[in-house]
Amino acid sequence: MFSFSSIQDYHTYLTTEPEGCVIAVNHYLSKIKEKNRLNAFLEVYEDEALKRAKELDTNRKAGKKSGKLHGVVISLKDVICFKDHKVSASSHILENFTSIYNATAVEKLLAEDAIIIGRNNCDEFAMGSSSENSAFGVVRNAIDETRVPGGSSGGSAVSVQAGLSMISLGSDTGGSVRQPADFCGVVGLKPTYGRVSRYGLIAYASSFDQIGIFANSIEDAALVLEIISGADDFDSTASEQKVPAYSAQLTENKKTYRIAYFKQALEHSGLDKEMASSIQSYIQTLKNAGHSIEAVDFNLLNYIVPTYYILTTAEASSNLSRFDGVKYGYRASLNEGDELTELYKKSRSEGFGKEVQRRILLGTFVLSAGYYDAYFTKAQQVRNILSDQTKNIFAEYDAIISPTVPTTAFKIGEKTDDPIEMFLADIYTVYANLVGIPAISVPLFKHSNGLPFGLQVMTSHFDELSLLSISKQMMQLKP
Ligand code: GLN
Repeated sequence: MFSFSSIQDYHTYLTTEPEGCVIAVNHYLSKIKEKNRLNAFLEVYEDEALKRAKELDTNRKAGKKSGKLHGVVISLKDVICFKDHKVSASSHILENFTSIYNATAVEKLLAEDAIIIGRNNCDEFAMGSSSENSAFGVVRNAIDETRVPGGSSGGSAVSVQAGLSMISLGSDTGGSVRQPADFCGVVGLKPTYGRVSRYGLIAYASSFDQIGIFANSIEDAALVLEIISGADDFDSTASEQKVPAYSAQLTENKKTYRIAYFKQALEHSGLDKEMASSIQSYIQTLKNAGHSIEAVDFNLLNYIVPTYYILTTAEASSNLSRFDGVKYGYRASLNEGDELTELYKKSRSEGFGKEVQRRILLGTFVLSAGYYDAYFTKAQQVRNILSDQTKNIFAEYDAIISPTVPTTAFKIGEKTDDPIEMFLADIYTVYANLVGIPAISVPLFKHSNGLPFGLQVMTSHFDELSLLSISKQMMQLKP
């Protein structure tokens, strides 16, 4: 029986098992079938993954040099382009669209011998917090199938949670990697804006979007991060900063850190009481381990969700204008005499789901001449203030901790009628995207209702090494 604990252990196993990659892929293929009702995958590349596994086994036996992700079985959120494979953003509008190139992150995975096993279901165009907005059905949380896995990268989170792949890549614009990781009890990492190229990632809000990583352990996330990070000629926002060898530098470190938490975040009325007290006692655990932990004031907490939704919908309304029934994807059929505008209207009304339409409308509204200054400009100003405050915090602290989400995974259907309720699930995660810092959800806790939840850790721009090192220490102090 194949079982997976970490990439390192898997690689040790491969040294003694000549057919190891094929065994692993067969294992995941049968798990995916067995857990089909979770709806985590939109497509599985069965033959292709097996073929690649065979090639890798053969290469290994022939003594060829192995890549750092040799045989690692990875799934991709359905917003990341994989050449000659469908990519639909879980939307009818792109249902039959085939990618003609690889995302840079995918190119880098493949160059290190990874095996891509399939594409994961998600909220349409990555808009949502529950994976209920997919045009291809809801994703179910493997711990309790009546509950959501979070979103928008719900299929990716469930894939790692239920052992359907070793790693999954998702995208995080306002929490879409960290929030589902929290709901599913796995590691979810959003890198600094610009750490990983966005080339080949279907855009939602370009100044917020980052590709992120789902993994079972901090070590695995570190290894994948060092591979997919780096400058890219195809994305001018991808940073030129050197990529540290995260995985090698993550060795036992006993460093103690100066950690801050936002008083208003831990005292927020929307935060589940038991979660708040678990985090409080964990803060004591961290103090006992020698870290310094202090409360800092953060009086903008109630502004960050509105700011986020104004700016991201504005960017989305512009980004999604390319889906017009002419250039890409779904095209509605017209009646005799219909004009070109009718083609746009019908294709977009029939092709996009409700939530995406709501956001395009909202974004168009906040950008319209009469309201631009009142909403868009104001929100940009809040974003600047947040960046200034963040600089000040990191002048004194190494990291900020907070809950990842205010509640544990909710029931399917529980929040679908109330978009504002749903938006509030993002209260702790959107901050990192507004200011561009790296953030991770570390799966530390279990609620008395049986569901997991995580602790969010954030560090300053491009300090993923501290982020991962602190998270690793935290895992060792898991309650
Ligand atoms: N839940 C947030 C939203 O709906 C975050 C989405 C994301 O990070 N892609 O916008």
